Amino acid sequence: MIYPEALEYLIKFFSEVPGISERAAERAVLYLSKADEEKRKLVINALREVESLRRCAECGLPTTDVLCEVCKDESRDRETVCVVEQPRDAAIIEKQVGYKGLYHVLGGVISPLEDIGPEELNVNSLVRRIKEKGIKTVIIALNPTVEGEATAKFLLNKLDGLGVNVYRIAYGLPYGATMDMADELTIKKAFEDRKLLCGGK
Ligand SMILES: [Zn+2]
Repeated sequence: MIYPEALEYLIKFFSEVPGISERAAERAVLYLSKADEEKRKLVINALREVESLRRCAECGLPTTDVLCEVCKDESRDRETVCVVEQPRDAAIIEKQVGYKGLYHVLGGVISPLEDIGPEELNVNSLVRRIKEKGIKTVIIALNPTVEGEATAKFLLNKLDGLGVNVYRIAYGLPYGATMDMADELTIKKAFEDRKLLCGGK
């Protein structure tokens, strides 16, 4: 061990992140240790805030408050909700599509192999939001995998009859791919070409 224990710990921690090698983690941690004092302080303060992270009471996005930045933003379209598997998918849509509605994070997809059933997902809270918050449009933006398709079908059954228009985004990417593999244009196009599954008033 040539680094202080704290640095070794950070390198080990970040190298556990899928897709980040030990070398990349080491570079990032050493970069932080060389950064000027002000920058380091900002990073340390940000890390401290991570401690109070929780899920937004409405949509499930990470927040340090009761509601997340999206749900607090009164200028957004509050009648449209985009359903995603994980917060990361919402971040991709936000950045690449310019979407200005609200989100709903399911927290996963139905997967018998991983023993994830519908009751493990945030579906009831979605139904409650639709009924209580005047949601008129739901856009299902789940990955085009077997599990994503099964979950979309399940959602459609649940939402049919609630008086909302339900859309499923189209995909230009191969079946089985996930959203973070797609480029900006593909995701934008998938959003524009969304298909109406039920509703249509
Ligand atoms: Zn929220």
